[in-house]
Amino acid sequence: MSLKDIIGDSEVCRQIEALMDNRRLPHAVIFESRDSIKAKAAAKELAKISVCSSEGKRPCGKCINCIKAEKDIHPDIYKVKITDKKQAVGVGEIRELISDCYIKPNEASAKVYIISDKMTAEAQNALLKILEEPPQNVRFIITCESSTVVLKTVLSRSSLYKLSEDNKRAADELDKKAEELAVEIANVIPQNTEMPLLTTVSKLGKDKALAQKVLEKLSVYFSIALEEKFIPTGKQPPYIRELARVLRKKSLVSLIDVTAQAQKMLSQNCNMNLLATWYCAKIRQSRH
Ligand SMILES: [Zn+2]
Repeated sequence: MSLKDIIGDSEVCRQIEALMDNRRLPHAVIFESRDSIKAKAAAKELAKISVCSSEGKRPCGKCINCIKAEKDIHPDIYKVKITDKKQAVGVGEIRELISDCYIKPNEASAKVYIISDKMTAEAQNALLKILEEPPQNVRFIITCESSTVVLKTVLSRSSLYKLSEDNKRAADELDKKAEELAVEIANVIPQNTEMPLLTTVSKLGKDKALAQKVLEKLSVYFSIALEEKFIPTGKQPPYIRELARVLRKKSLVSLIDVTAQAQKMLSQNCNMNLLATWYCAKIRQSRH
């Protein structure tokens, strides 16, 4: 499994890969995700990258370091565990880690410490000292559900990567937001007002993925409204019925057309704010 498989083809993945290519991975990395399995999998993959002995792309998945890391038996990858019956990693465990990290790696060219359990404030303060002046070839990877549990001083010495949650959940969330905005726009079109139209349509300029979805939905709404105008069913949601009632057929056809044009402009990477302004003007023209 690659880092991309674990954390998705995201900006975070691209950032980490760019650092990897330049061999400039930071010595302290924090993976934040409500999905703790995902954060731990990302930590394991980064640990593997850190110990891999390939001169080419890392992790190679073939060298002895990669194989041992995959099996969780690499002697240079340490998982910091809570000792006794405590609730969090304490200062004792961190002190042990600190004295260990000055000892040369056993087999790889680097040592990795993974901390997935909550740390006490004292433990974090102890860790901070080593983060300020880390020994060479040592990497610390912290995973957490929320970076709010990490002290600001520790955060400032680390690179924080927020891993997105489940892709399907993110897609559902985007769809919900798009539907809300599309309905909002559909609602203001029949009102013969300027400002509300401008305000709602300009929200398209903020987010390309959202704009794409909103335009798709609006295109469907206008088509249904046109059908409703020819054969009224009265069964459509109020915003569709209102579009069908207030607008002429010609206006609805024009709206379908300008929405298709806007989608095309979006696919050609046009300026988002210009697109929103253009679309707003076209809606206004279509309305009359
Ligand atoms: Zn390898």
